[in-house]
This record gives sequence, C-alpha cells and structure tokens, in this order.
Amino acid sequence: MEDEVVSKNFIEQAIEEDIREGHCETVRTRFPPEPNGYLHIGHAKSILLNYGLAKKYHGEFNMRFDDTNPTKEKTEFVESILEDIRWLGADWGDRLFFASDYFGQMYEAAVKLIKKGKAYVSDLTADQIREYRGTLTESGKEDPNAWRGVEENLRLFEEMKDGKYQDGEMVLRARIDMASPNINMRDPVLYRVAHMTHHNTGDRWCIYPMYDFAHPIEDAIEGVSHSICTLEFEDHRPLYDWVVRELEYERPPRQIEFAKLYLTNVVTGKRYIKKLVEEKIVDGWDDPRLVSIAALRRRGFTPESIQRFVELCGVSKANSSVDYAMLEYCIREDLKLKRSRMMVVLDPIKLVIDNYPEGRVEYLDAANNLENEELGTRKIPFGRELYIEREDFMEEPPKKYFRLFPGNEVRLMHAYFVKCESFRKDADGNVVEVHCTYDPETKAGSGFTGRKVKGTIHWAPVEGAVQCEARLYENLVDEEKGVYNKEDGSLNLNPDSLKIVKGCYAEPALAEAKPYDSYQFVRQGFFCADAKDSKPDALVFNRIVSLKSSYKLPTQK
Ligand code: ATP
Ligand code: MG
Repeated sequence: MEDEVVSKNFIEQAIEEDIREGHCETVRTRFPPEPNGYLHIGHAKSILLNYGLAKKYHGEFNMRFDDTNPTKEKTEFVESILEDIRWLGADWGDRLFFASDYFGQMYEAAVKLIKKGKAYVSDLTADQIREYRGTLTESGKEDPNAWRGVEENLRLFEEMKDGKYQDGEMVLRARIDMASPNINMRDPVLYRVAHMTHHNTGDRWCIYPMYDFAHPIEDAIEGVSHSICTLEFEDHRPLYDWVVRELEYERPPRQIEFAKLYLTNVVTGKRYIKKLVEEKIVDGWDDPRLVSIAALRRRGFTPESIQRFVELCGVSKANSSVDYAMLEYCIREDLKLKRSRMMVVLDPIKLVIDNYPEGRVEYLDAANNLENEELGTRKIPFGRELYIEREDFMEEPPKKYFRLFPGNEVRLMHAYFVKCESFRKDADGNVVEVHCTYDPETKAGSGFTGRKVKGTIHWAPVEGAVQCEARLYENLVDEEKGVYNKEDGSLNLNPDSLKIVKGCYAEPALAEAKPYDSYQFVRQGFFCADAKDSKPDALVFNRIVSLKSSYKLPTQK
C-alpha cells in the first residue's frame, strides 16, 4: 500500500484521536434523514461523508430513518430515499433502522430520568414555556412544576402515555438549568402529547419524543461512535452530551458538526421546491433543473461525479457556498472518457452533395471516443443528403469563420471534405439547403494529406436518421438578480431555464438509447436519455452540461 499523503480533515483527526485514546473500538456512523422529502445534493455530502468514514476506518454505516415526528412523515419518501442512497453507492448492508422502533426504549429512558430527578411533567402551555424560557440576554424563570416529586411525575408521565391528556396539555421537561446561558439547556421539552397516527407504529403511542432527546438515544442504542451533523446543532451539543451522560450509556456517542453544503444560486429549500412542484413550474421533484438526487440522476449525473464533487468540497467548520460550475466540472471530467461521442444535429438544415451518386449509401467507421479506444467503433451511413447545423453555414461569413460558406471547404466529421457550391433559400429568405461537392480522395482514415481544411463540422445522415428532442437547461433562477426577491422573498425565476428543441436529427446508433443512457453529442455537450419522457420512438435527451467551461478548480490549500 502506498502511503497516504492527503491531509486529514478535522473529523478524521477527531476519530483517530478517539481510537488512539481507547474511546472507540468500532467506528460507526449513520445517516439519519427524516422521511419527509426527497434528498438533495447537500444530503449527498452527509451520506458520502458518513459512509466514507465508516469504510475508511473499517467500521459500520447505519441507515436510519429519523421518523419520530408523525406530522410530516410519509412512507413514500422512505423508498425514494433508499433508492437515492443506494444509487450514490453508500451501502448499508443489513443495517437499516427506524428510530420509531425505539419508542419503547425512549419511554424507558424518560422514566429513568424522572427516577433520577432529572425530568418532570409540566402543565405550562406552549406560550408559557416560551415566556418562561427567557431570551439570549435574560435568564429563564423556574417552571412551577419543577419541584414535583418523583412518584407524581412517574404517574403523570404514564397518564400522558395512556392518553389522559389532550395535545399540548402536558409535556415532560428535562431538569437542567433555567439560568443556563445556552437556551437549549433551559429545561428543554423531552416529550409531548400528540394524538396522531404514526406511519410505523400506528396509534400505539400518543406521546412522541422531541428531536434533541430522541437523537442521542438513537445513536447510543445503535452503538454509533461518531454522530456527525451540521453546524446548526453545535449549540445543541451540550444537551446531546447531557442526555447520553444522564442515561449512563457505556460508550456514549460523540457529536461532531460540519458546515452544510450550499450551492451558489441554487434552490435547495424543501419549502421552495414544494411550491415549484405544486405550481407546476417544474416537472416534479426530479425535474432536471433541480438538485435533488433524483433530479441529478434524471439529468444524467453519475454517482462518481457526485462523489468527486463532495470530495472536492471537503469538510469544513465554516459555512460557505460552492459554485454550480464545480459540479459541472465533475460530471464533464467523469464522462469525458467514458461515453461515446455521437453526432446529433440540433438545428438542422439540409446539405446535398451534388456529385455523390444518388441512392448510394456507404457505412463509415467512426471511433466512439478518440481518447478511449476501449469504447470501440460504430458504423455511420453516409449518403447524398445529410443534415448539418444551421449555424455551420453562413452566406456572408465574418472573419475567422472556418465553417461552410460559398467556396469554402470543410471536413465532415468521420467522412469527406466537402466544398460549398451554392445554397437555396425559401420565400422568407431562410437558407433551406446547402449544396456541396465532395472529394472522394479525402475519406477520413484514408491517410489523405493533399491539403488541409480549417473547419470540421458534424452531421447526421438523412437516410436512417433518428429524430429526437433535446432539452437545454439553464439555471432555474436568475443569476443576476440572485435566488430570492428582496421584497417578498419569492424566487427570481429565469424564464429561459428550459429550452425544448424538437426535430433534432441523430445518427442511427442513438436509436438504442435507453433511459439514463448518456453520450457526448459532439460540439454540443453531454446528453442523457430522459428517464420519464424518452420513448423508443420519441427519444428525449437532457443536456447534462455543455462542453466548454471557463471554470477552474479552486487551488488546493
Ligand atoms: P429538515 O430537517 O428541514 O426537514 P434537512 O435537510 O435537515 O431538512 P434531514 O432529513 O433532517 O433534512 O437531513 C438528514 C441529514 O442530512 C442530517 O444529518 C443533516 O444534517 C444533513 N444535511 C441536510 N442538509 C445538508 C446540507 N446542505 N449539507 C450537508 N448535510 C446536510
Ligand atoms: Mg433536519
């Protein structure tokens, strides 16, 4: 094995310190989503980080649904979340857990705290609790229920569980410190009454644990060694530590926070995306303009490109925002050598080769990827009539235009040199046909060295061409104005975020494209057959990314 020269991030350093000092035998991490929506690129970071750490330290990775809040959760999301994580390549093996399976143990844990005099039942209303809590500058006030005896607390808590109280009538609070400078430590609520049906436990419970109580218990039950979460939980860490300490777990898990991944000018908030979906501004949660995992997959991103992206982002303690261009860089790099380079004409006009025999078709050999021989070759039919891009012909070319114009010669990719002899316009003055002559000596691969041309253009044969639709995407929001409207907080949408181009012509090999198959369309970008709308007789391709970029990787520290 080669020595690793990569420097370790702060989480790895903390884990190694714990191993060295004997606090941790098995590194065990988890990804704990609430099943209340689709996962996005930010979650991918958390998934790959947790999975990567478990793998690196020969530990275990737990997939756990944090389904302790019956109001927002839906089973439909459980499946979509698992599919996304599987696709990303994070393998949880048989370690799939549901926090709701621990409700019994959480109840017991609460009883234990009551018995220790560390929790009490309170009948303050939600408003009163808020009022008693104080503010950042003012300390809180003692809850009049705080001095209730253990026996009475046990009885009341049991009554809460047995359904004797209405929602909001009683809560269980931790007894910590109403004067703590950390508001989270001012006797936080541990359990509330909620007469609701839970997707897993049905009507078995009418009390539900609060996140800050449930989460450390879930981690401890599963033997999680390092509970990695995002920065907004930093202030909750003292409570996390309090819970695992008071419950006297033998190997208490350690919480470590890192900064969330934000993408510049990209919408990730569930609330906003929900609205876009409901108002049919986007085509569902997997609309290729979104950055949910399902959307990225549909657009044509690969797990490898996302893994690379997450790696490049690194882990940090400071919030910052990453350019979408970096994600594009990663997919370009990933597909460059892996995908075939096909010829597809997006905005076709006809090219007629006047001196090519009518009715003749020859099959030209084309390398699928000049930089990767392993991808093999294919045959492309070539005949008298072809399609070329409208922009590859100009009647009156500007300087440095090396494509077709009257009298100029170019190479047709994988084929011959053709020289423009004339062209035809329709009644409105649009060019509809370009006429050329070809030179049979100049066949690609024939070793012809007689003369050179400055331009090479792509084409598709008329004979056997496959008609398809291309969807060209731009940012969903207006980058100039920024994501949010300063006045009303609404989104500044880009009206041109989707351009649908119908009537494109592709070479015959594209006819086989199945959902998620992707290609480079030469000179145009990387494209992927749309998983929802592409049909064998009506192919639809999403542009994943264009070929060119001015993006440079941020120099490594
Ligand atoms: P909410 O809690 O508002 O429903 P959420 O995005 O936090 O939304 P969770 O299901 O709670 O959704 O998230 C699961 C895990 O993913 C958490 O550990 C969370 O910290 C992490 N996570 C969420 N957003 C990001 C992000 N942008 N970058 C990195 N990790 C994230
Ligand atoms: Mg959350």
